[in-house]
Amino acid sequence: MKTIIEPFKIKAVEPIYFTTREERIRILQQAHFNPFLIHARDVIIDLLTDSGTSAMSSEQWAGIMRGDESYAGSDSFFRFETSVRNITGMPYIIPTHQGRAAEKILFSITGGKGKYFISNTLFDTTRANIEFSGAEGVDLLCDEGKQPALVAPFKGNMNVTALEQFIREKGAENIPLVIITVTNNSGGGQPVSMANVKAVREICDRYGVRLFIDACRFAENCYFIRKREAGYENRTILSIAQELFSYADGCTMSAKKDAFANIGGFLAMRDEQLAMECRNLLIITEGFPTYGGLAGRDLEAIAIGLEEVLHEDYLQYRIRSIEYIGEKLDAAGVPYIKPTGGHAVYLDAKAFLPHIPPHEYPGQALCGALYVEGGVRGVEIGSVMFGKYGPDGALVPAPMELVRLAIPRRVYTQSHIDYVAEVIVEVFNRRNNIKGYKITYETPLLRHFIAHFEQL
Ligand SMILES: *Cc1c(COP(=O)(O)O)cnc(C)c1O
Repeated sequence: MKTIIEPFKIKAVEPIYFTTREERIRILQQAHFNPFLIHARDVIIDLLTDSGTSAMSSEQWAGIMRGDESYAGSDSFFRFETSVRNITGMPYIIPTHQGRAAEKILFSITGGKGKYFISNTLFDTTRANIEFSGAEGVDLLCDEGKQPALVAPFKGNMNVTALEQFIREKGAENIPLVIITVTNNSGGGQPVSMANVKAVREICDRYGVRLFIDACRFAENCYFIRKREAGYENRTILSIAQELFSYADGCTMSAKKDAFANIGGFLAMRDEQLAMECRNLLIITEGFPTYGGLAGRDLEAIAIGLEEVLHEDYLQYRIRSIEYIGEKLDAAGVPYIKPTGGHAVYLDAKAFLPHIPPHEYPGQALCGALYVEGGVRGVEIGSVMFGKYGPDGALVPAPMELVRLAIPRRVYTQSHIDYVAEVIVEVFNRRNNIKGYKITYETPLLRHFIAHFEQL
């Protein structure tokens, strides 16, 4: 088989600014050892997130010019609505400026004290919006998903036995929604199988609980279903996506992910009453229902992006380029979540830096080392992001200590990726010299964005 090449040509380029190791040591210190506080210009390869960082296509840029900026009933809205409806089959489609705006609206209406939202794994903004409403978020991931080194096809699946038990224990009336995140961003970008979604649907039906999908990476998930689940090998990505959404009562989506847009999101659902309540809140917080916090041009870019992301050659290149980093890491013995997921490589910082205990934040320390070594910016997904303090003030660590290297869509070429792998291997060879961190400043919610650290 020949090399799988990038299925696009480059039409506009953006410079990368280089820094020296000495400069990066100083920059990291000035940023209080928090990658979120480093200026983008000081980053060589930016793998902080795949959110809003996609390269748009020439068609999307053409759509930007075509965008209809009418306040009400713009053409661009109807194109957006048709595109979302074609994939999700949902009658009520509500644009929002980001995924979290969709979450804020949904959980303000359905959440509140004494309520539980159950998921395979909630993403950080999703969990924060649930908790902000007074409700509790519960992650019931399958057992395979908790073992970083285990190779299994659908490590994003929900533990359906635990789900049913939880519903029985707490009472269906206290569970407004079950939410399946596809792919499981916080758990390694691992996919969820169609069989698992169907099984969750059956349980939801049995107890009268609604099922929503956090659909940010639905196309990547559908590609894995096609590749790994029997019966789907000859189906188009669109038809797999349509089946996936057919089991859900609604979805939230960040268009900054699988819609190749730089901003945007939406909420879609089947229930008319719920849609009406969501739209009321939308008008107060986001805007009129046919633009919801976006410009007409953004709606246009999303509509086109949602069609492009279903192309098989794109998804093959996308998933393969992530797998390729995994192969390079395997050759050097670097621990990471296996197999590689849809949008990122997740280094296993616990195994990478066994000499740094969770309360010294090995993931954050690894992020710092990758930046100093090669100007590569990743993000900690571990006890900085998800750690809590117990009643005695001691850290209750997150189940895993990970560093996510998220690959922006259509942005970097194979040589960029080769460079990233070289940097990781170099850091791995010198891992014994890496020191842990302590937190010197933090906030109660989403502390990872603005926390300050010191090296121990
Ligand atoms: C990015 C993301 C969100 C939030 O979307 P924003 O557009 O960043 O607000 C929610 N869930 C998952 C799984 C995500 O990856």
